[in-house]
This record gives sequence, C-alpha cells and structure tokens, in this order.
Amino acid sequence: MSDTILDIENLTVSFDGFKALNNLNFSMEAGELRTIIGPNGAGKTTFLDVITGKVQPTEGQVHFKGKNLKKRPEHQIARLGIGRKFQTPRVYTNLTPRENLELSCNRSKNVLSTLFGKTPAPEKRTVGGLLETIGLTPKSDIKAGLLSHGEKQWLEIGMLVAQSPDLLLVDEPVAGLTDEETELTGELLISLAESHSIIVIEHDMEFVRQIARKVTVLHQGSVLCEGTMDEVQNDPQTIEVYLGQKPTISPSQLRMLRIVASIAWSDGNLAPEETAVILSRLSQLFADDRDRQQEIAAELRDYLSQSLPVEDVVKDIDSLEQREEIAKICYEVIRSHSLVPHQPAINKWEAAAYRRLLELLELPPEVVKEIETDS
Ligand code: ADP
Ligand code: MG
Repeated sequence: MSDTILDIENLTVSFDGFKALNNLNFSMEAGELRTIIGPNGAGKTTFLDVITGKVQPTEGQVHFKGKNLKKRPEHQIARLGIGRKFQTPRVYTNLTPRENLELSCNRSKNVLSTLFGKTPAPEKRTVGGLLETIGLTPKSDIKAGLLSHGEKQWLEIGMLVAQSPDLLLVDEPVAGLTDEETELTGELLISLAESHSIIVIEHDMEFVRQIARKVTVLHQGSVLCEGTMDEVQNDPQTIEVYLGQKPTISPSQLRMLRIVASIAWSDGNLAPEETAVILSRLSQLFADDRDRQQEIAAELRDYLSQSLPVEDVVKDIDSLEQREEIAKICYEVIRSHSLVPHQPAINKWEAAAYRRLLELLELPPEVVKEIETDS
C-alpha cells in the first residue's frame, strides 16, 4: 500500500443545488507539500471546509489516513491530526508569542494556569524550538498584538504546528504580507514540509512558484490540471481559466517566450527595447502572415509579465532548432540595451543569466559562436 494521507473520491458539495464542488477527485501522499490554485469561486475554501468537517459532502467521500471522515464533527477531525490555518490570524493579542505557543502545546490547560503556573521543562524546549522555527525568538516576550501582520501569521502557523498535526491546511498565507514576509513565509512552509504534509491554497503566483512542488488547479469545483508549476502554467486550459482566453500559440512556443522573458527580466527590469525585440522576433518566428504576427505580438505581451525559473522550462524544450532560436533571441535581447545612451552594452545580471541559459541549453560551442558573431 502506498502512503496516501488524503484520498478524496467523487466529492460533490451542493448549496441549494449549486455545486461548489463537482465530482472532485484528489489524492495526496504523506509528506507532500501541495499547492492548490484556482480563480475566485473555484471551490478552494469549500474544499478545505469539507476536509475539516465544517461542510458535509453531498456525495462522495474523504479518507484521511485511511479513515472515512463522514459525519465526524470538526473537533474530532482536528484530533485525528488535521490542523487548519485560516486567512486572518487567530492569536491572543494580549498574550506574548511564547504564551500563545504554550497554550497550543497544551490545550487542556486554561489561559490562567498558563499565565501563572509553571511550565514543565520538556514543553518549554518545544516552545523554544517553535519560536526558533517561526523566527520569533527575539520577540517571544512582547504582546502578540504588537507583531506585524506577517509575524502574527507565523505565530499562528507555529500554534498549529504545536499541536503536531499530520496534515496542515493553510489558506492564503501571504495575503497582505510584504514581499520580504512573503518570502520568509515560503521558507517557513518549506521547512515545515520536512516533517508534515501540507496543503497550501494560494492566489499569489510568485509565491506559488517559490514553494511549489506539485500543483493542483481547481476550476468550477473540479480538478482542471495537476502537475509541476511549469506543466500547470503551460497547460492551455489553465491559461484560459486565468487569462480568460485560450492561447493561440503552442505550449512549446509559450515556453520559448517564457525563457526569453526571464532572461530579459534577470536584471529586475524589462526595458521597452527588450519588449520590442522579443515581440518582433518571436511573432516573426511563429507566423509568416503579417496580420497573424500582429495578433501574436499582442497575445505574447500578456505573458511577458511573468518570469519563471528557467531551469524548469528549458528541460522541456526538445528541439535543437528551438534551443538555437532561444539563444539567438536572448543574445539580441541582452544587447538591445546598448541602444540606450550611458548604459553598458550588456549589463552584468543579464550577461550572467544568458551564460547560465547557454549551459542549460547545451548547445555545441560552434553554434554559440555563430550566434554571437552573426547577430
Ligand atoms: P474559492 O475559495 O475558490 O473562491 P469557494 O469555495 O469559497 O471558492 O466558493 C465556491 C462557490 O460556492 C462560490 O460560487 C460560492 O459563492 C459558493 N458557496 C460557497 N459557500 C457557499 C454557501 N455556504 N452557500 C452557498 N454558496 C456557497
Ligand atoms: Mg476562498
């Protein structure tokens, strides 16, 4: 038997006839960090509500560690080992982070005995370890109400972990956080994933990219697509759901664009000259007809705002011709800056990203040489 922690079969949830979840199937191995994305109304929150017992399935079943969760009340499901982190932090703002964690470590104690009683030593170590994990050791003894929004989120994650759940459900953990807090939250979840199974629901694509292993896309109450971030982002149906229209270019053409855009973005800026080179070269490559080229250029512009880790994308480019075209266009893109007065011909970030890309593309040296003398 495989080590399946969560198994969901033909799950339907109807609200007065409206199916918020529609014949959904989902399975997850113990130890996985799974990200679930999907547009508003896709059923993400309802999905978590069913797992935690807040909402009962209309049809289908949920098995957790082999146990059918049917008709079990929420508190019983929590005790089986499912912990849920809601979007807004639920911490005691008048208590310190340490006290909040002590409470969670020992739920049977009431607030007063935690405040005035002595905490046994082993538990203290756990609390100390948790404070360390969530990065709040320096702030362990100030009132939680004084913490930033992000720090409160981490505290609540720590409070959940204190109850040693097998499965952690986390709903939009980075909504309203700063960029730095978002990145730290990602690191925290990745480190927790070493010892827990975790489901993260998220809107923020940048964040999903940071933490994603396997991604499940929900749409209209069912699973639309499942795979790596790259597979999901290049899936025509998923793109249609997110951007409201089907891409008219092929997945491999989309990959080429993604790689070229990432090189152009590698200095943190997409210059107008770079956009111009990318759109004209790729549209000419993808179509012969001038009208069609213009359509393609308009469509490509929509995808330009996204930069992806190039490693993940390059491995799926099989054709040598495409690899060569990518290198050629990237070389032209990074040199397009030289048109701008007072700027070095090629800036060092883009030069480094381009060198790295050449390694990944594994092109023969003579081909590279030709590209760099030709252009
Ligand atoms: P998401 O979290 O992906 O945005 P939700 O699970 O919140 O989606 O909602 C899915 C759909 O179900 C939405 O159309 C929503 O309006 C509907 N819905 C959710 N909860 C209820 C409810 N208690 N009663 C009626 N409709 C609901
Ligand atoms: Mg929701």
